[in-house]
Amino acid sequence: LIAFLLYLFYLVPPIGQLVQGGVQLQQGLAALKRIREIEELPAEPTEPVRVAQGSVEPVGVTFEDVVFRYGDDRPIVHDGVTFEVPPGGLTALVGPSGAGKSTVFALLERFYDHQGGTIRIGGRDIRDWPLGELRAALGYVEQDAPVLAGTLRENLLFAAMDATDEELRRALARTRLDDLVARLPEGLETAVGHRGVLLSGGERQRVAIARALLRKPRLLLLDEATSQLDAVNELRLREVIAEVAAETTVLVIAHRLSTVTNADRIVVMESGGVRAVGTHDELVGLDDLYRELAATQFLVS
Ligand code: ATP
Repeated sequence: LIAFLLYLFYLVPPIGQLVQGGVQLQQGLAALKRIREIEELPAEPTEPVRVAQGSVEPVGVTFEDVVFRYGDDRPIVHDGVTFEVPPGGLTALVGPSGAGKSTVFALLERFYDHQGGTIRIGGRDIRDWPLGELRAALGYVEQDAPVLAGTLRENLLFAAMDATDEELRRALARTRLDDLVARLPEGLETAVGHRGVLLSGGERQRVAIARALLRKPRLLLLDEATSQLDAVNELRLREVIAEVAAETTVLVIAHRLSTVTNADRIVVMESGGVRAVGTHDELVGLDDLYRELAATQFLVS
């Protein structure tokens, strides 16, 4: 039967195309749904965008009893979230899917405003930060960071056009991308993305970190890639995160055991609240949920 189905799918082109067409249609509908969702987002808080004041000192974060829901008719996502991230160092957010980890990032970026409690960045209420200054102070590296069509140099500099060659060299060294540049046929001028050299998941995330570092963030928000990395890329990512955390504040949604074991503190979220805070060793000894997460969720080690 399986052979027959395979025969139908691959050898009879109209059926194969029909199935593929169906998949494409589904993808198209999913994209349309996403666009609708984006259109329906509440308007961002508007404020005049001011140029950053130039400070690069790391900033800490405090969430005090934060309450948030995505809309009046939506369920509560943060139901009194409280935790502290001191300036500098590596703090990891972990928790089951839906616990509200990405929402912490969305609130810090002020894509949404919380409805209760207080969020402070650098000791200052998030609502007192001019939006432009706030966004300039934050670097955000998403999970599947896109590589745009263009050269590697363009990919790195599009958000920091005025970075000097020395700053670029330093960012490449800090993200261990200098080896990659040396390997590429035209170095930084090599075309990457779908029309050029394809970068691995680990390289793409390091490109995104380098891009964020060039903007000299005072707080780096990193949604760690879940993709499997080979041993070399895994080690490099770990080194890069540790090195960046030595210079600025890094808050990471962690998916790797190596990241949580290296974190200065881990915040365990569950059902919209904070369940426990500690180091990996402390939490393994203290918290059942953390022990379970460590055993099941951090499969990427
Ligand atoms: P995961 O590990 O799966 O990414 P998470 O801990 O990051 O989960 P969030 O993405 O913060 O969790 O989601 C928390 C809750 O908020 C979920 O129930 C989710 O469906 C909902 N949610 C997230 N983003 C939105 C949004 N833009 N609009 C409405 N609801 C949302």
